[in-house]
Amino acid sequence: MKALLGSGGIGTEERRAMYKTLMAEHFSGCKRVVFVPFAGHDHDGNTNRMREFAGDSDYELIGLHEFDNPLTAIESMDGIYVGGGNTWLLVRELHERGLIEPIREAVLEKGIPYAGVSAGSNVACPTMQTTNDMPITLISSFETFNIIPFQINPHYHPGGIWFRESEDDDFVKHFGETRARRISEYHETHDLPVIGLYEGSFLRSKNGCHELLGNKAAIIRKGEEVFTVNPGVLLSDELAIL
Ligand code: ASP
Repeated sequence: MKALLGSGGIGTEERRAMYKTLMAEHFSGCKRVVFVPFAGHDHDGNTNRMREFAGDSDYELIGLHEFDNPLTAIESMDGIYVGGGNTWLLVRELHERGLIEPIREAVLEKGIPYAGVSAGSNVACPTMQTTNDMPITLISSFETFNIIPFQINPHYHPGGIWFRESEDDDFVKHFGETRARRISEYHETHDLPVIGLYEGSFLRSKNGCHELLGNKAAIIRKGEEVFTVNPGVLLSDELAIL
């Protein structure tokens, strides 16, 4: 199994360069990579944006919606890339189009490299229950690809937000719930450990070993204190440091 799972938040030149390098390495040797654009409504727009963003790469990025038969398309592709947007919309489409099992099989049984960013990382997990997204549509099941055995919360930050209404205002504190608090609510009824990926971070996963790259991550286990790990750390399937 080979996966590259990013948080998003690649707003700086340095982070964009890292994203491009990691993607190029991840898909090296791939000729055709299928892009799954269903986390947004504009499938052509999403695919074209990603194509422009990938720039000069060795692989061709083809939108899954461009194929008459998506199931045979998945079988014939060298790589799979699931883009970000709204996770609920993405999960609805994956279930309605019957894509959960074929993609899972391609990644776990045929070793096709999988890349996901943000919503695309959420769906690599057993379920989509640690997304930050609003439930804008009804879904038939929370189940997702289950290609890694823990949950991801993308765009993680430890809380303590300060904001200002305009440039002239003073910063005021936002006292809302932190991510750790929301994830502890998930843990009231579920046991899987959660990794909160800070912006600009990636997990490079290969057969049970998950390397953190780019930025920090928070590891949140049921009933335990949150602990933070730095880029370079290697984690097991249980999110223990190797
Ligand atoms: N909306 C996010 C994305 O960019 C996913 C998330 O925050 O859970 O895909």
